[in-house]
Amino acid sequence: MFHTKKPSLTLPPLPYKRHALEPYISARTLDFHYGKHHQGYADKFNKLVSGSDLTELTLEEVMLKTTGDDYREAILNNAAQVWNHTFYWNSLSPEGGGKPSGELGKKIEMSFSGYENLIKQFCEAGTARFGSGWVWLIKENGTLKIMNTLNAENPILLRRGTPLLTLDVWEHAYYLDYQNRRNDYLTTLLDKLINWEFAAKNFNQA
Ligand code: MN
Repeated sequence: MFHTKKPSLTLPPLPYKRHALEPYISARTLDFHYGKHHQGYADKFNKLVSGSDLTELTLEEVMLKTTGDDYREAILNNAAQVWNHTFYWNSLSPEGGGKPSGELGKKIEMSFSGYENLIKQFCEAGTARFGSGWVWLIKENGTLKIMNTLNAENPILLRRGTPLLTLDVWEHAYYLDYQNRRNDYLTTLLDKLINWEFAAKNFNQA
């Protein structure tokens, strides 16, 4: 699903209903975040690549091809934001939260000396991101790591291993429900909504 062919990039539907993440993320936030912000990046992207040599590429290919090209920065930013948001919706689930089990759970124990440390590092990386960006759990060189990225950047275009999960730390992701309390947003989502099943799938494919 992350290999959407162009032209006619259309957003995949949200993987749950608009009220499904309440009370932790409101339907109103999803209406704006998916319906206006995510859709806006897709519309802009389609407009920018129309008639170019990029229309037949996947989003991943577009990101890798336009990274470092000053003339195509807007294309890169919009492509990455489309990709990041689709990955974010899948990183959340109404049945999510809690502690991961299985192989991924074991790997977390090894990489972070415990699940609690993972949560701590994840929240620290998310609150430390000055301005807008993303916080990620990635698998790189066989190890699990936490990283944050600026604005639209992501582990794919930075060539930093395989992303397993992400949380959006742009203000539009949490302001309606949490106002300025970014740390509350992060800890609540990790506790109640984070989709370890999705992370495990990405982990097994990495
Ligand atoms: Mn966002």
